[in-house]
Amino acid sequence: MYLSVPKETKSGERRVALTPEVAGQLVKKGHKVGIETGAGLAAQMPDALYSAVGAEILPSAEACYKQADFVLKVRAPFGDELRLLKPGTVLIGTLGPLSEPEVAQHLADAKVTSFSLDLMPRITRAQSMDVLSSMSTVSGYRAVLAANLLVERFFPMLMTAAGTIAPAKVLILGAGVAGLQAIATAKRLGAVVQAFDVRPASREQVESLGASFLSLPVDDAETSGGYARAMAADEEQRERELLAEPVQKSDVVVATALVPGRRAPVLIDETMVRSMHTGAVIVDLAAETGGNCALTEPGEIKVTDGGVIIDGTLNLPAKMPQPASQLYARNVGTFLGHLFETWAKDAASANDLSPVPEDEILQGTRLTEQGQITHAPTREKLSVK
Ligand code: NAD
Repeated sequence: MYLSVPKETKSGERRVALTPEVAGQLVKKGHKVGIETGAGLAAQMPDALYSAVGAEILPSAEACYKQADFVLKVRAPFGDELRLLKPGTVLIGTLGPLSEPEVAQHLADAKVTSFSLDLMPRITRAQSMDVLSSMSTVSGYRAVLAANLLVERFFPMLMTAAGTIAPAKVLILGAGVAGLQAIATAKRLGAVVQAFDVRPASREQVESLGASFLSLPVDDAETSGGYARAMAADEEQRERELLAEPVQKSDVVVATALVPGRRAPVLIDETMVRSMHTGAVIVDLAAETGGNCALTEPGEIKVTDGGVIIDGTLNLPAKMPQPASQLYARNVGTFLGHLFETWAKDAASANDLSPVPEDEILQGTRLTEQGQITHAPTREKLSVK
């Protein structure tokens, strides 16, 4: 197979879908790998590292799309790039169909078979392909470092000849993958950490990291998929009441609460922001889906009249593109291995890469095939619009 990697085109995107490490593994397995010149540069991976493992350096995105049986991307193609897709290509990336369902329509119209790795089922055997977990790990870590710089305070307690400085108080909202990484990072830096989640199962994980857990009894908070369900308006109100005092007392809040396919829950309202001290910081990882704070402006860092800093920076993994690409590329490499193995075993598609075999991981991530959008929630989103 010829696998190609065009340069990412979305503004601010610095990750690359294949690293030299994973490109080399694919070459050793007998595949051809082509990479657009400079595609890895922003992630500290120059062309020479790819050439050294046997990858071909291609001069342009056109060449990547023209050569490829498989196109590997971090983000969905958009704009002029969409015109380069040729029928029969297999596209793999985080295509974000629930936030941008129109892309799926383009891919279906272009007769591209696509797999969106952000749809990966949360099952044990898919963990090594789970790009959402990988990227949440980076985001949780990066969010705490950003908060640490913005708050302009020490995180640990300092005992000096000039007296003692109290440790920073950090509150983490949402204790999923990003939240747990944020807790671990804030603890390593020496802060006093509290965390809140509606899923009772997260208590043990939070406490095992040395943070204290704030809980709110809510019926059936966790869905069968392991995610939190969307809360009703009165439940969200109860959450805000519970959080009012901890938010007021915090130096830093890192907000990570998400509900797949929905607007993020609003856990911090304007009154709560006003209650925070001058210089306190909210880093809102939920900014992309509306924000956990009512005052978050996606993509902006702003300071309120009361001096509270609200950081709505988007796409934090792109701020640490080297390790983020390393994790992402390993997920892609494992997914490709699984895909080739499953396809090879499937008699119906032995001579061809279609139809996609009956397999939970492949069916779960498949977005388009044979001119159709195969992911039902994306079809629903498009017909609702
Ligand atoms: P997520 O990104 O969807 O949400 C982040 C956190 O926000 C979750 O912990 C969620 O409970 C919390 N949240 C949502 N609404 C909230 C609200 N109103 N108030 C407070 N908190 C709220 O979640 P995630 O990080 O992707 O993880 C979801 C679950 O999936 C976790 O239990 C995680 O351990 C599990 N998981 C399993 C696998 C696997 O088995 N392959 C992989 C990754 C994650």
